[in-house]
Order: sequence, then C-alpha cells, then structure tokens
Amino acid sequence: MNITVFLGAPGSGKGTQAKQLSENFGFVHFSTGDMLRTSIKEMKPVGLKAKSFMDQGNLVPDGVMIELIEEALDPLSDNADVLLDGFPRTVPQAEALDSKIKTTVAKAINFNIPDSILITRLTGRRICPNCGESFHLVFIPPLKLNTCNRCSSTLIQRTDDSEAVVLRRLEVFKSQNQGLLDYFGNRKNIITIEADRAVACVQKELLSILKH
Ligand code: AMP
Repeated sequence: MNITVFLGAPGSGKGTQAKQLSENFGFVHFSTGDMLRTSIKEMKPVGLKAKSFMDQGNLVPDGVMIELIEEALDPLSDNADVLLDGFPRTVPQAEALDSKIKTTVAKAINFNIPDSILITRLTGRRICPNCGESFHLVFIPPLKLNTCNRCSSTLIQRTDDSEAVVLRRLEVFKSQNQGLLDYFGNRKNIITIEADRAVACVQKELLSILKH
C-alpha cells in the first residue's frame, strides 16, 4: 500500500485537494473527520464516542482513531494509492501506522498556510450535508445562494466551524503539529507546500509530488 498523509491546519485545504485527487486520479481517500461525521449521523458507537470531543474542537482519543483507520485500511489491496487526510494528528497516531497497522508512509505533505487566513477560511465555509461538497461564502460561493451546485441540497455550516470552536481547533493543531513535523522530518519523507494558493495551482504541485 502506498500511503501519503496530508498534514496541516484545519482549513489549509487538505480535504478539498484529497477529494479532487480521489475523484479524478484514482487515489483512495480517507478523511477521518468525514468518517466521524458519518458515524455520528448513523448513530454508530464510534460517532457517539467522538461527538462531544468534536463539538468542543478537541481531538478524539488516539485509541478510537487508530481503530477506525485500521479498519478502513485493512480490506485494501497492496497496490492501493491511499491519501490520509486528517490522520495522523498526533505522534502516537503516526507511530501506530508503522507499528500496529504495519504500513509505511511513503510521503507526508505539509500544507503550510498563514494563521490569519485560516479563521476566515473556516468560519466562511459551508458544506453540503448530502454529497460533502465544500463551498465558501466569499472564495467559492455556490451558484445559487445556500444551495449545493452538485446535488441542490441546502448548505450548512459545520457546528465546529463557529469562531469559538475554530480558535480551539487551531490551538489543538498547534500543540500537536511540531511533533508530527519532527516525526516525519526525521524520516526525511516530508514535503512542504504553500497552501495559500488557488486550488488548481496547489493540485498541480501535489500531482507532480505524488507521481515521483
Ligand atoms: P476535520 O474534518 O479533519 O477538521 O476533523 C473534525 C474533527 O474530527 C476534529 O476537530 C477532531 O475532533 C476529529 N478528528 C478528525 N480526525 C482526527 C484524528 N486523526 N485524531 C483525533 N481527532 C480527529
């Protein structure tokens, strides 16, 4: 299995890029945030465990997340090209990919972006609860007000995209990020990209990295 992990703050564009790469170029994409939100919607035990942590902008405990990703990767074939978006978020999660889950991360891509942009990006974000498409009130407005371009469902704001919870999520990100950068830096398989650019521009660079 060829695993690439996307590291970076909430709002840095990891999800948008991973989604497009999986739709257009055959990568298998796992977003742990989306997996948890689906589990909450379906009232599965993992969702019930995760909900209060997510609502407050805190991380869901490592044990829960490692089991979730372990189950997701288990059925995949050895030649799958996998993008992990939102996992690992802590060093123990990164270690679990090697030890417990017994896979190797081929590349870690660090989405670098100034803090000042993240709050605007996250609080203005609107998502489609049906197909998961993401919009932004200013940067990517839907063609019709509050309506998904793809499936016409009414867009919503994620409960954890309110300003108070966004600030907490960024604080949590900062407390864990350096450890992850050091972990993958020590293995010399981390590549930093500037994520404060147009989606197409970032994608072009990502594709050239992923092909090599
Ligand atoms: P995201 O959609 O990636 O922004 O994730 C939304 C929320 O899900 C995060 O704020 C965490 O509460 C939780 N979450 C997602 N992935 C992880 C992870 N790998 N470890 C812990 N919590 C996570």
